[in-house]
Amino acid sequence: MAIERTLSIIKPDAVGKNVIGKIYSRFESNGLKIVAAKMKHLSRQEAEGFYAVHKGRPFFNDLVEFMISGPVMIQVLEGEGAIAKNRELMGATDPKKAAPGTIRADFAESIDANAVHGSDAPETAAVEIAYFFPASEIYSR
Ligand code: UDP
Repeated sequence: MAIERTLSIIKPDAVGKNVIGKIYSRFESNGLKIVAAKMKHLSRQEAEGFYAVHKGRPFFNDLVEFMISGPVMIQVLEGEGAIAKNRELMGATDPKKAAPGTIRADFAESIDANAVHGSDAPETAAVEIAYFFPASEIYSR
């Protein structure tokens, strides 16, 4: 499998619960390396731009409000099959349906406040990484 990069966001609910380190250790112990990271309180414009593909969906406004309700921790993860691996570690969008032992099953409350974001495909990963990190802020080795 190829070495990939994916964008991960620890959302305001999980940052507020003080579990950044616990989530990072799941990435690290599953072969994903953190090659870029920043904490940021998104502006409304940044959150709307990031989730532009969901504009018009019924949950869009609530999603944006939630994402700007507190700081988030944003990271680029690198590793073999990183995109699918991160999605596997995250679990299903709705934490009630997330497999036991996944990040969402263990740390999320609801489909709105679901602890983490992860890119879902190589194309979206490239766009999402570039949205937050210039190449000069990604440290592969
Ligand atoms: N979302 C929501 N209600 C829904 C579907 C999605 O609040 O019915 C939110 C949820 O926070 C989710 C995000 O919108 O993480 C993006 O949705 P997507 O389907 O891309 O899920 P993900 O890729 O995050 O699992």
